[in-house]
Amino acid sequence: MVSTLAYLLLGSNLGDRPARLAQARRDLAATAGRIAAASSLYETAAWGVEDQPAFLNQVLAIETELDAPTLLAACLAAEQLQQRERLVRWAARTLDVDILLFGQEVIDSPHLTVPHPALQGRRFALVPLAEVAPQLVHPVLHRTVAELLASCPDMLEVRRL
Ligand code: ATP
Ligand code: CA
Ligand code: CA
Repeated sequence: MVSTLAYLLLGSNLGDRPARLAQARRDLAATAGRIAAASSLYETAAWGVEDQPAFLNQVLAIETELDAPTLLAACLAAEQLQQRERLVRWAARTLDVDILLFGQEVIDSPHLTVPHPALQGRRFALVPLAEVAPQLVHPVLHRTVAELLASCPDMLEVRRL
């Protein structure tokens, strides 16, 4: 079996946020593969829409035998287990699971874009990713995660818990 190291970003800003991330780690370990690394938890003010609770974010490195679309399905299923609702864009959510990177694969399909197109513009994704994989090279931008973080224009504070 071919296995791929994928990087996922977990986010929650509703309810018991650390418990939601812990549940997501258990669910993803059962459905997607072994968690090879996990960042600290980071707190960030809500992005996009500001009148809502702050987010907790965490990056997981997951060693998966799934292909990327099947991994996305596992991510969406983990959200569904926590009653994620999509009412308005960027609304508060129990759990969000995004694929940041899938090995060095570049994917641009209607349902899946990898690397995540907003990665380089979001400190709340780059800070935890840089904790677990600072030297990882972005397959489109050809810069390391540490370099992307150093040149990221986003000013939102990302606080390590
Ligand atoms: P953002 O993409 O700006 O972080 P979001 O996470 O709030 O926004 P969602 O409503 O969670 O957006 O996701 C909408 C759809 O985005 C998903 O159903 C999925 O098909 C698609 N998508 C495309 N690329 C990715 C990716 N790399 N990771 C997760 N979902 C993706
Ligand atoms: Ca997201
Ligand atoms: Ca998402």
